[in-house]
Amino acid sequence: MYALVTGGSRGIGREIAKTFVNEGYKVAILYHGSDEKAKELKEKGVLTVKCDVGDRSQVRKAREELEKDFPRLDVLVNNAGIWYLMPFENFDEEKYNAMLKVNLNGVIYVTYEFLSLLKRSENGSIINIASNAGIGTAAEGTTFYAITKAGVIILTRRLAFELGKYNIRVNAVAPGWIETDMTLGGKTPEEAEKLRETFRNKTVLHTTGKPEDVANIVSFLASKKARYVTGQIIVADGGRVDNL
Ligand code: NDP
Repeated sequence: MYALVTGGSRGIGREIAKTFVNEGYKVAILYHGSDEKAKELKEKGVLTVKCDVGDRSQVRKAREELEKDFPRLDVLVNNAGIWYLMPFENFDEEKYNAMLKVNLNGVIYVTYEFLSLLKRSENGSIINIASNAGIGTAAEGTTFYAITKAGVIILTRRLAFELGKYNIRVNAVAPGWIETDMTLGGKTPEEAEKLRETFRNKTVLHTTGKPEDVANIVSFLASKKARYVTGQIIVADGGRVDNL
């Protein structure tokens, strides 16, 4: 079985890549800047390709490179993403375009480019990592990020419709607050603990999320256990209590 995870060098994507390795998949990742982190995975047998998913020509080159080792693709996880916190009144077009490019265009480019390899699988599966922000869950300053993730959600629904004829299932996971560099990077231990407490208090389960909480759902969606599941968005956010 062959799996490709975008943004597999750190955080949620790295955990997903490791989970697939443990399950016996041949795994490849696309990553952007974390050469050292990618090297660690390469030493564990992961194929690592440096590629900005928001750059279409780089994605095409990555597909050409990967095709040398992957006769087909059974699972594609579109996970690479960035965020800038920005209230609407502080609209910064450059930051907005950067998010759109990676979070939404990146999913389109990678899926489009790797579709021919996915079609060769008997049980192809695409899993997009969206966000609970994309379904309207509140968080300070996430309006523009949420727009990009809402795009990923509608793309998931429409692709499920279009690719069903190839027996390719398309689903998304919409995580809540997960402890990674994206949420905790650059924070002191005190700041990090304060943030954890803030987000614990926003969930009915009174807990924050870990990368494995997302990876476990991805593992299920990729497996034959989910053969009758497509076009679905699984929200994993501990049960958020705030809606606006
Ligand atoms: P991290 O910031 O920890 O990791 C981001 C990953 O994406 C890195 O591997 C990074 O690669 C890669 N990446 C970023 N830009 C590009 C690019 N242009 N091309 C290729 N790869 C890129 O983020 P998380 O693990 O927290 O987030 C993973 C996904 O989950 C994202 O889509 C995010 O929006 C989503 N998400 C996260 C939540 C959270 O609370 N953490 C909540 C909801 C959704 P490199 O290091 O090599 O640059």
